Amino acid sequence: MDDLKPSPDMSPEEFRKWGYKFVDWIADYLAHPERYPVLSQVEPGSIRRQLPPNPPEKPEPMADMLRDVEQIIVPGITHWNHPAFFAYFAVTGSGPGILGELLSAAFNVNGMLWRTSPAFTELEEHVLDWLRQMLGLPDGFKGIVYDTASTSTFHAFAAAREFAGEGASQLRAYTSNQAHSSVEKAAMAIGLGRSGIVKIGVDEEFRMDPVALEAAIKKDRDEGRRPFCVSATIGTTSTTSIDPVPRIADICEKYKLWLHVDAAYAGAAAILPEMRWILDGCERADSFVMNPHKWLFTPVDFSAFYCRRPHVLKQAFSLTPEYLQTTDPGNVTNYMDYGMQLGRRFRSLKFWMVVRYFGVDGLRERIREHIRLGKLFASWVEADSKFEIVAPVPFSTVCFRSKSDDSANQKLMDRVNASGKIFISHTRLNNRLVLRFTVGNLRSTEEHVRMAWDLIRHEAS
Ligand SMILES: *Cc1c(COP(=O)(O)O)cnc(C)c1O
Repeated sequence: MDDLKPSPDMSPEEFRKWGYKFVDWIADYLAHPERYPVLSQVEPGSIRRQLPPNPPEKPEPMADMLRDVEQIIVPGITHWNHPAFFAYFAVTGSGPGILGELLSAAFNVNGMLWRTSPAFTELEEHVLDWLRQMLGLPDGFKGIVYDTASTSTFHAFAAAREFAGEGASQLRAYTSNQAHSSVEKAAMAIGLGRSGIVKIGVDEEFRMDPVALEAAIKKDRDEGRRPFCVSATIGTTSTTSIDPVPRIADICEKYKLWLHVDAAYAGAAAILPEMRWILDGCERADSFVMNPHKWLFTPVDFSAFYCRRPHVLKQAFSLTPEYLQTTDPGNVTNYMDYGMQLGRRFRSLKFWMVVRYFGVDGLRERIREHIRLGKLFASWVEADSKFEIVAPVPFSTVCFRSKSDDSANQKLMDRVNASGKIFISHTRLNNRLVLRFTVGNLRSTEEHVRMAWDLIRHEAS
């Protein structure tokens, strides 16, 4: 059959040949990401200028594509795989995760219904149950994978509104002034606008003040508004502070509000027995999100969302047109009923492979080491009289600054980032510019952390 006419797709022989070449290329890339500046040094527009304005009419050789990846694309990559990527929250596309992605691209199934790939649905349910156990959450939580924490929180808010009841108006949600911007966006996305969210003050360690939360809820009720949801954060984006979830849960129960917990980054640390306390109170949450694509070595994107009232989430999102009606038994999950998306990627394969390859013990060891490295960096900063630590360091993220003004700190950050050797980011706390250093990449070692601190100290003087 094969030799009757050319295959409409790439032939199996060609696929094999280029598949090996691409995998070799990736293996070399992952072996030496330090060859490249961690922060891309290109000017805006420089990538597009190198690309032809019109699409090719005729087929082009794979060899040309690989060459262009090297010459055009790679210089425009900020290398998140670089072991000295210490900005934002560092991530890792680990080997087993990358291979899992490759397989999911190969199957190319669309997991909208159980029957559109039973293995898709059941593996997703199963690995999210593994993750639930790893985090020590009770078994009443049903899991679903979304692309990002932003999307997960949007679904939490939509379910919370459903829970508040048809026709509820003047809805108000609450979060701390340290919460991620995606919480405010969730309020915008469900149509409440930015006035639908109230930002509660924090204590000196940047944790939500539950007394202020209750006062705000009471005030809104007195003024005829309808409080419906509180979003607490475990590991806020600026400082990784931990909101007092048990006390917030008390308030939510008292006023019958939906409790959502955003643990996008820090949730991963709860797989360590000695860090399990960070999720105290989360067993009482209505919904919970953490991102394995942040600190569990799973390639972007993979956000794990858990809901203790899946029927409410389903009520908020199910609507089944005739062409999607099935006669499958009612006890199967049709994931399209639990969110905005119909089509869904086979994301659980990569996470399955990550957990099996490293083992839960291996994952624990790596996260424990990152926390050690973060605290080690903090200890060096603390010991230097020209610098100060500006927030507690419960995880692997350090907020610090040189004891000078904002513009000196800004220049310091710009200089170290322009070196191409390390990449750090910043935030603003108590109206001062603060530098942020975070460890989260599998390839980061004590040597990289030491090199970063030496460079920062050197550039500051
Ligand atoms: C990173 C982060 C988010 C946003 O994550 P996405 O997956 O990029 O949407 C939300 N909340 C917290 C606490 C985060 O750390």
